[in-house]
Amino acid sequence: MTVDYKAIAKDYADKYMEDLFTYLRYETVSAQGREIPETANFVRDTIIEAGGESEILGDLGGHPVVYGYFKAGANGNSDKTLLFYNHYDVQPEDPIDEWKTNPFEPTVVDGKIIARGVSDNKANFMSRIVAIKAIQDTEGGLPCNVKFFVEGEEEIGSPNIDKYLETYADKFSADACIWESGSKDSEERMVISAGVKGIAYFEASVVSADIDIHSSQAAVIDNGAWRLVHALATLRDVDNNITVDGFKEMRTQPTDVEKASVAAFPYNEAATIDTYGLKQPLITDGLDYSAQEALILYPTMTISGLLSGYTGPGTKTVLPRQAMAKIDVRLVPGYEPDKVYELLRNHFDNHGFKDVDLELLTGVKPFRTDISDPFTEDVINSAKEVYGEENVILELNSAGTGPMYGFGKYLNVPILGAGTGWVESGAHAPNENIRIEDYYQGVEHIIQLLHTFSKK
Ligand SMILES: [Zn+2]
Repeated sequence: MTVDYKAIAKDYADKYMEDLFTYLRYETVSAQGREIPETANFVRDTIIEAGGESEILGDLGGHPVVYGYFKAGANGNSDKTLLFYNHYDVQPEDPIDEWKTNPFEPTVVDGKIIARGVSDNKANFMSRIVAIKAIQDTEGGLPCNVKFFVEGEEEIGSPNIDKYLETYADKFSADACIWESGSKDSEERMVISAGVKGIAYFEASVVSADIDIHSSQAAVIDNGAWRLVHALATLRDVDNNITVDGFKEMRTQPTDVEKASVAAFPYNEAATIDTYGLKQPLITDGLDYSAQEALILYPTMTISGLLSGYTGPGTKTVLPRQAMAKIDVRLVPGYEPDKVYELLRNHFDNHGFKDVDLELLTGVKPFRTDISDPFTEDVINSAKEVYGEENVILELNSAGTGPMYGFGKYLNVPILGAGTGWVESGAHAPNENIRIEDYYQGVEHIIQLLHTFSKK
């Protein structure tokens, strides 16, 4: 007899929908420190109410981490433990004028739940709790042990997460980890991501004089804007190759398995151009690797902001005395923020730009799971049961950044994403939403996965 997980998932998701709505009503904006303890308590109580053990860990600073533990049932495989990583904090709701509904009053419109944090990341947490309840009720116990690590600082860069992972490595020990989220792409395929890029974020600035100067003096005096523009132009050539000394050499060469995985990853260049209304071709047109290789296997070098001189209406002739740029570098394995800082510093110095001040504002290391680990097949195969054979794709690592590195380092687990988002979920944006049908499937996927993973 086959069990109808699809029907069970929908039943339980509906039965506990009000719990999700309660969770979404907490205004857990970590950047503004709003309702942090209240939400952490809710997460703890939710785990306990579902039959687990839970504890709030706050001794290492920052917003607390909620620990959760569910023991395998009598017929389960108590040798295996699956860890879920989630975060209970959300992004600020700004710009509030662009919301069609109250961001902290979940509202159902056209089969979607609209609320701040619903896709990033509260529905994913609740889908996992609902899956656990469904299995416990219908099967009398879980097929394996389950743990939760639910933090409250993801949206502000997880500044304390590695301390908690290192100190509590035994408490959170597991055989594998399911990451906070996963999403369907524009073709309705579920994308399972096996890693993240890291980031090194810099501020570069130049002060060229004590005061702004009349621009007639440009005949003999340089200015801050030119100094900075020249320095920045040494970082990347007009064909978009990164030209920082020693930078290319730092990259870890991908394995054949990784290269094959990237080659098989679908990417629609025309859709990208259309979506953003690009006025120029993709920069990969001039590079000797493809767009999907660029997104997954290569670092980036981005000027994110520039500030200098007079930018008001009309004219003002002046030699600006200072200039500032924000630089964002996305990292793949082989790159670490501190080492990238050293390279950039040496590069500026060696190119005659000792006067360019450089500061590393924030850094996150990259992480990539070894996709030959059998856990990859568990996640992919269980997803195919739910989404269909053709509708599941593996992404070696996402082009974005997240705090995976510490989980790999201190817990030594393979990590893959799964979740309830879709291409228009609008994480961090107004009218953030998920589709209820995707939520049902998300619950079903976790039910399937717990069974697949637990097989001896
Ligand atoms: Zn986020």
